Amino acid sequence: MRLLMCCGVILVLSGLFAAPEIRAALGRRQIQRDMKTEQDAARPQSVPERQVAEGAAAGVNDKGILVGESGAVEPEVVREKKTIYLTFDDGPSMDVTPEILDILKQNNVKATFFILNYGEKSIPILERMVREGHTIGIHGYSHDYAEIYASEDAFMDNVQKLHDKLLKDVGYDARIVRFPGGSSNTISEKYEKGIMKKLTKRLEKEGWKYLDWNVSTGDAEGDNIPSGHLLKAVKKELDPERSNVILLHDTSAKQSSADALQGIIDFGIENGYTFRPVTESTMMVHHKVNN
Ligand SMILES: [Zn+2]
Repeated sequence: MRLLMCCGVILVLSGLFAAPEIRAALGRRQIQRDMKTEQDAARPQSVPERQVAEGAAAGVNDKGILVGESGAVEPEVVREKKTIYLTFDDGPSMDVTPEILDILKQNNVKATFFILNYGEKSIPILERMVREGHTIGIHGYSHDYAEIYASEDAFMDNVQKLHDKLLKDVGYDARIVRFPGGSSNTISEKYEKGIMKKLTKRLEKEGWKYLDWNVSTGDAEGDNIPSGHLLKAVKKELDPERSNVILLHDTSAKQSSADALQGIIDFGIENGYTFRPVTESTMMVHHKVNN
């Protein structure tokens, strides 16, 4: 995976078809609603079972799922220029993740965490993420390529299993997935040829979204890469004309990612960027699928 993260991928903004619904569990309203597109109307209006009714009050719905003021279900597209989505993969960890949450809180910046399976001790950290307005996405119950890319069903089960556990433990209905290795990974070819083409379609067909990245800090290339290197990479790759999805990691081996965070936030703010958490209405950055 580490090697795959940095390969030159062709990025496709394929999230122009913003979902008409914001699913309840995301439950927060930091999104600007000043852009709507025709695609909103064109999009099939399927309403999954787990989604709460329109107009529901904020709080917890009858299924025990956290919901926002509107109860979700409203079409919207966010303005993406000069936007930064900070995304953290492979956590939560007991040391680096809380430090990252502290920095985000001090700066009033919201981010997105693509998590792996976690122990009981991590539940308060996940609850904190939700309470403080961050988005939790699914990276997978397991990160073992041989296991998760063995078949379509193996992958879907790996997503569903963690989703269900998170829903049970935290009451959070995560709907956004990040593929281990990204959707552009070629390592999956070793286990099943063509699986990424199938999975990218299947996820969306089954009501999930998936998000890749277009700014790589390089923190996946080794443990504790000097924070100055990470910041330099971000400065080089940020583009004010688009949505910027920054890939970071929050495992215990990524202390330097936490160390680089304040610098990344300062640089973003100084240069007029807005930091947002990913929601289902976010234009999803997708890599070119290679397998
Ligand atoms: Zn990962």
